[in-house]
Amino acid sequence: MSEVKNIAKIEVELIAITPNSEKVIEEAGRTCYLSFDKIGANSAEDFIRRLVKLGHESPLEHAYATFRIKNCSRAMTHQLVRHRLMAVSQQSQRYVNEEQFEYVIPETIPEEFIDDYCNDMDTIHKMYAKWRQRGLKKEDARFVLPNACTSEIVVSANFREWRHILQIRMSKKAQWEIRKACAMIYEILKENAPNCFDDIKEMD
Ligand SMILES: Cc1cc2nc3c(=O)[nH]c(=O)nc-3n(C[C@H](O)[C@H](O)[C@H](O)COP(=O)(O)OP(=O)(O)OC[C@H]3O[C@@H](n4cnc5c(N)ncnc54)[C@H](O)[C@@H]3O)c2cc1C
Repeated sequence: MSEVKNIAKIEVELIAITPNSEKVIEEAGRTCYLSFDKIGANSAEDFIRRLVKLGHESPLEHAYATFRIKNCSRAMTHQLVRHRLMAVSQQSQRYVNEEQFEYVIPETIPEEFIDDYCNDMDTIHKMYAKWRQRGLKKEDARFVLPNACTSEIVVSANFREWRHILQIRMSKKAQWEIRKACAMIYEILKENAPNCFDDIKEMD
């Protein structure tokens, strides 16, 4: 194994979610029909499932969820931040020193080549340190950093947008790391708001 062992393992943490999210969605959605008299202990379940089936998804915009994702690659976050309806705050390579950067090892690299990959990362650690020692600011020394470099990111979106993101990013057509992150987000959302999310299946 190479001398620097800062190899990353992705983590997803729920920071916040709209309290009583399914009740909020039901309250909002029933405004369209003025059917408040139908609100009962379990009425949100049928109502939300019907909305989703109809494609009447705008009431789902009343609930939000915020996640912190750690130890993921910049390659992954670059894909995630393409979702324009999501709010994003990401670790900056302009302000954070990357001399000891951790990195993600693609799952597709065969075991026998992992040492070689880690050696390449060690070379990049040295390249970054060299340019810092030559006086380059972090914002410019980062030009030699790899996509494998880890990042930390906080993302917020409403439930309708989460449904959209999960549907396209858990698909087998999506890249393995974003699929993994989204599968973790999906499990958390499904637990907190099953009627809004449990119909989403991994797409082919
Ligand atoms: C498998 C896969 C491969 C990809 N490959 C590439 C690639 O090679 N190169 C590349 O550049 N990107 C690529 N992307 C990214 C993709 O093109 C989108 O930028 C990304 O998925 C953001 O999603 P979105 O546009 O659907 O929705 P979001 O930005 O999440 O917005 C949600 C929805 O809101 C609506 N919306 C948002 N903004 C607008 C708008 N301005 N006008 C009209 N409607 C809007 C749309 O209905 C959209 O679906 C890939 C994505 C996937 C899933």
